[in-house]
Amino acid sequence: MDPIKKKEQQANHSAWLKKALTFSHGDPVRGGSPHPMVKVGAILVGADGQEISRASNRFAHGVDQNVAERYADGSRSLWINCAEQLAIIGAVRKQACLKGARLYVTLAPCAVCAGLIAECGICEVIVPKDSDRAHGRLKAKWKKSIAIGQTKLQEAGVAVTLMAEAQA
Ligand SMILES: [Zn+2]
Repeated sequence: MDPIKKKEQQANHSAWLKKALTFSHGDPVRGGSPHPMVKVGAILVGADGQEISRASNRFAHGVDQNVAERYADGSRSLWINCAEQLAIIGAVRKQACLKGARLYVTLAPCAVCAGLIAECGICEVIVPKDSDRAHGRLKAKWKKSIAIGQTKLQEAGVAVTLMAEAQA
């Protein structure tokens, strides 16, 4: 790729990642993440460059997010769905085509999400460099899950692009 095109593409990637980051830190009433520490944003962009869907890590619609115990250590990850899952479901609800789509996400995908990403035709995942380290309180089980996720994406031929900017 020529250097000017590459620069344009990187600026484009950064802009989408910033949007995902801002969205995840917004008011949970408007789709922002209710997670107390790890707020993750994901935006799916179609092969045509248009946004398909966006989501943060949050409770599924209709599930009560105001129960304190659901935020306790060991429970949160069972109650709160990953941003990537919810962005993919958003695309499914719209019957959008994910072939050749790009997924911008502010934290590298976990093992479960990586499997879904590989399965639905997304061609590239763009994440901030060292995103798992930027989230300083990420538990060991998540780090392991992310490492497995990276391997899954690699084996499935999904490109992973690490961006220096937009760290959370
Ligand atoms: Zn996940």
